[in-house]
Amino acid sequence: MSRIAFIGLGNMGGPMAANLLKAGHSLQVFDLVPAAVAAAVAAGASAAATAVEAVNGVEIVISMLPASRHVEGLYLGEGGLLANIAPGALVIDSSTIAPASSKKIAQAAAARGLSMIDAPVSGGTAGATAGTLTFIVGGDEATLNRARPILEAMGRNVFHVGANGAGQVAKLCNNMALGVIMAVTGEALALGVAHGLDSSVLSQMMAVSTGRSWATEVCNPWPGVLENAPASRGYSGGFGNDLMLKDLGLAAEAAIGSGASIPLGELARNLYAMNSKAGNGQLDFSSVVKLVAKDA
Ligand code: NAD
Repeated sequence: MSRIAFIGLGNMGGPMAANLLKAGHSLQVFDLVPAAVAAAVAAGASAAATAVEAVNGVEIVISMLPASRHVEGLYLGEGGLLANIAPGALVIDSSTIAPASSKKIAQAAAARGLSMIDAPVSGGTAGATAGTLTFIVGGDEATLNRARPILEAMGRNVFHVGANGAGQVAKLCNNMALGVIMAVTGEALALGVAHGLDSSVLSQMMAVSTGRSWATEVCNPWPGVLENAPASRGYSGGFGNDLMLKDLGLAAEAAIGSGASIPLGELARNLYAMNSKAGNGQLDFSSVVKLVAKDA
């Protein structure tokens, strides 16, 4: 069993840390929100007063923060974590951030004798809680093999997609598809309801037809269709609209950098930006349906 520092105990990090504790690992945790730390302590973790204190004496560091600026701020710079982690330790960043940021931090880690992988996840808060996440890994094979038993305590699938930063590129591809599919699923349901159809019957039909998707079957955007979906609890919890907006912005940057064309991805980014401006930035991203359905 390993001594692990876990930093970032939000919607995803909280349940991921809980699964590591269940697997018998010992955790030193830190988050800026005291309530998040308290929940992890109740599950068996030790609280650290700072991120630097959390990494004291550990073999593995895991971070699960919102965006590039948080992750760069955590690891780099004078008071940054890389200067405080014991040489030889393994660093796993599971946040979804810019591929260039992942590469930069991995290079700085290597210069300090630390091995690092980017290991963003897919599977949502339900997957984080159930321990069934998919890890999408960038980094070298030997480092991934060290990380594998830890990742397997939090997830079911581990994909090695390339060198440092490649995990982020693959994650952005997945989320761009998800963002587009969620928006159009909301439109399809709104169209049906506008014609007097029952949103549940329409969703059940689509779930066994060619329009089926995770957005229809697991995270249906229409309230009341799926009891456990964010839409049925006022769009609370889940994957925030502004996190999807961030990912689509990263996909747009990646497209500009490579000359790729992403017309639907760009359109979807604008829809999530409009939903954010409408005051729904902190709601689950399925609230994008509100742009086309005032009763949702
Ligand atoms: P969240 O906002 O719920 O949690 C982030 C946590 O990080 C918060 O508790 C915050 O207080 C903490 N934090 C921020 N800066 C910090 C710092 N410097 N030190 C310590 N703690 C700090 O976000 P989330 O939904 O858990 O998502 C985390 C990452 O996972 C994001 O990059 C997101 O894009 C990605 N992701 C989320 C989901 C999802 O369904 N929510 C799914 C896949 C991937």
